[in-house]
Order: sequence, then C-alpha cells, then structure tokens
Amino acid sequence: MSKLLRPARVLLLGPPGSGKGTQTSRLLKRFGIPGISSGDLLRQQIENKTEIGRTASAIIKEGKLLPDDIMTAVIASELSSRSWLSPTQSFLLDGFPRTEAQASLLDNSILSPASAQLNFIVELKVPHEVILDRIANRLVHVPSGRVYNLTYNPPKVDGKDDVTGEPLSRRPDDDPEIFRQRLDEYAKLTEPLVDFYKKINDSALFSVAGETSDIIFPQLEKEMIRRFGERIAETIV
Ligand code: AMP
Repeated sequence: MSKLLRPARVLLLGPPGSGKGTQTSRLLKRFGIPGISSGDLLRQQIENKTEIGRTASAIIKEGKLLPDDIMTAVIASELSSRSWLSPTQSFLLDGFPRTEAQASLLDNSILSPASAQLNFIVELKVPHEVILDRIANRLVHVPSGRVYNLTYNPPKVDGKDDVTGEPLSRRPDDDPEIFRQRLDEYAKLTEPLVDFYKKINDSALFSVAGETSDIIFPQLEKEMIRRFGERIAETIV
C-alpha cells in the first residue's frame, strides 16, 4: 500500500451492480482511502433494528430511494463521527449522493463549510448484460459489506464469508423485478448527477469503462496517481 500526496475526496457513480463496492475495497487496499457506502450503512441499520433501519427496510425492498433529508442526515453524521470533515482527509463515497438534491445538500451544507469538497468524481460504465449477469450471481456479507460473485469471485467455503466464516446472503433487492426498478431509478435520478458535477467542477470528473473490475481498476489507479501523486514508502533498513 502506498499513500497519496494530496487528499482525494472521491465519489463513485455507477448503476447498481457496476462494481462500486469492489472498486472501493481495492482503493482502500491500494491507497488506504477509507469509504462510506450508503447501502452498507442502511443494511447495517436494518440488521441492528434501529429506527432508520425500519424505515429503510420497506423502501429498499421495493427498490425505491430513501428521502433525501433522511439519507443526507445519516451520511453527515457518519462523516462527522469519523472526523472526515477536514481538508486533509481522503475519503470515498459510494452510493451517496444519488440525487441532485442530495448532491446540493452535501456540497453546500456539509463539505464546503469544511473546505472538503469532492475533488474526484468517477463514473463507472459497465455494459447492461454484464450487470444483469453479476446480480444473478451476487452474495454479500452484510456486517462488512464484502461482495462475492459465484462465477468470478466465489467464497472459499460455500455460502460463508472468507474472513469471518459467517453466512453470506442474497440481497432482497437483487430480485430481477426490483433490480430493474433500481436501474430505472439510477437512469432517472442519479445519471443526471454527471451533468450537475460538470457544471460545478468539470475537471473533477473521470469516466471509466470496462466489463470487469480487473479492467477498470488499473485505469482508476493510474488516474488517481496522476491527480493526487503517490508517496512511495521509505524502505526500512
Ligand atoms: P446500494 O447498496 O447502494 O445499491 O443501496 C441499496 C438501497 O439503499 C438503494 O436501492 C436505496 O433503497 C437505498 N439507498 C442507498 N443509498 C441511497 C441514497 N443515497 N439515497 C436514497 N436511498 C439510498
């Protein structure tokens, strides 16, 4: 792992199933950039049976989005409890913001006051057929957010998380009908964010296409180093 020279505040945009979770884990491993996934946060709240979890559960099952104010409050509290609202902290957001209203609230009320505006907005472009195939084969470990694919990245032991040995599950919203609804929500509400960020910070945008995370990751890695510089670890003698 090497560290970046300048702080990277990254947003990963991409349809459900485009591999945002996988790229997030690889960026953490490669550069030590920690991330927040809004979907993982909500699934943890559901597992812990909190009030937000109860609200989220019904909405997620239908493939709909949570109200912007609730979602923004959840993320704001997570960012501040991790002390990430600082101009020197690198972080990655996966799954939030997902609407223009969320993006405005995030920028105006949360990040700008902390001089911590997003400076790298990545759009993942993955063919539709690849996404549908991935979803049919996806399993998750809810407590950690680790994602497995029965074809490309199966768990070492059937149905069990590699690290903890705990059971894996299918996401209820990966059901084909619900999944279609989520793809529609993405096209209608989230894709327009690319234009939103083009207007406020065109130079932060980066689009990357590929069928697998092994094709996408090296391009992302190269671009991160180009933009933020890399500090090569000193050799220990
Ligand atoms: P994900 O794991 O990112 O696909 O999120 C799973 C589900 O959580 C979504 O289909 C939404 O119901 C809900 N969710 C996650 N992030 C957001 C968000 N930024 N705004 C509203 N709902 C969200």
